Amino acid sequence: MARPLIADIDLDALRHNYRLACSMAPDSRAVAVLKADGYGHGAVACARALEDLAPAFAVACIEEAVTLREAGIATPIVLLEGIFEASELEQVEALGLWMAVHSDWQLEALLARRAARPIPVWLKVDSGMHRLGFAPEAAEAAWRRLAAAPDHVCDLQLMSHFATADLTDTGYFTRQMGRLRALAEGLEAPLCLANSPATLARPEARGAWHRPGVMLYGSDPLEAASAESQRLAPVMTLRSALIAVRELPAGEPVGYGGRWVTPRPSRIGVVACGYGDGYDRHAVDGTPVLVVGRRAAVAGKVSMDMMTVDITDIPEAQIGSEVVLWGRAANGELLGVDEVARHCDTISYTLLTGVLPRVPRRYH
Ligand code: PLP
Repeated sequence: MARPLIADIDLDALRHNYRLACSMAPDSRAVAVLKADGYGHGAVACARALEDLAPAFAVACIEEAVTLREAGIATPIVLLEGIFEASELEQVEALGLWMAVHSDWQLEALLARRAARPIPVWLKVDSGMHRLGFAPEAAEAAWRRLAAAPDHVCDLQLMSHFATADLTDTGYFTRQMGRLRALAEGLEAPLCLANSPATLARPEARGAWHRPGVMLYGSDPLEAASAESQRLAPVMTLRSALIAVRELPAGEPVGYGGRWVTPRPSRIGVVACGYGDGYDRHAVDGTPVLVVGRRAAVAGKVSMDMMTVDITDIPEAQIGSEVVLWGRAANGELLGVDEVARHCDTISYTLLTGVLPRVPRRYH
């Protein structure tokens, strides 16, 4: 038997989630964010699945765009961080990419190039994330310079990113929106603002475009889940099987460091999945898994290639039984990646993007 660990990717679920994002912002176009290899799902497969629906894709850097183009994806692709050096502009043009411009040197490089055809540009404004972008006071001048260079720049948009759209406390989000509104009104600029949490919960942030990422993959990033987020379908199921079962008396430590000790006579299932596959080593005892579609819990530290789970209450579990680390079990039972992330003191984004290449992806 081959090692049973596999990431099952449900491309119909991806399409469903994309349509859901569109339905939440009917007057706005949704750029499907496919960076970090489609949040670990395989950017090329995801792009192919969304090609007929999405008017544009977004990636972090030119290498990710090249991968999509080499796979024959012709859809417009926006580089969310623009270029990393001026020499990349040739490729931007040759590959027909769109680009964010977030700093002076990018703007100067763009305007200095001997233009063959103009590049669609999204001017990035730092409205409060304080990561990338022009400060609002500088953004107006940058906008006007770009707008005055139609040989170099076309389809100019204003983009920004929210720091707290996922939180129930909307105070800081409202401040960011206020800064953006003031700027956009002066410039009559089309806006691209909303990430997944803003798409789900902040209707006022839906501009000409929105940029859903993690929600396309079925994860709900909101601090307090919304009704819409409940309708998201999980795209990845991380599925494995039991490769050994141990019967232990009470009082036996299990795994490295003996962190978990059997509280009673116990059956321990050994699962073919570990941190060498990308499963989070910070998963605490009690982190849920589904064994034959029933809830069981991590018991003991996660190893590189294996992990141990307490299956004492699942007598039908045996070597070869299905184990779902997150996603949907064969019996239809669901374990959300967001729930697993909470037990690992992390977010779904890191779990999904963390699934390593040695885990085969299987597409449906
Ligand atoms: N836009 C930008 C600039 C981003 O950096 C990201 C993700 O980090 C997204 C959109 C998508 O965010 P989310 O996955 O929360 O929808």
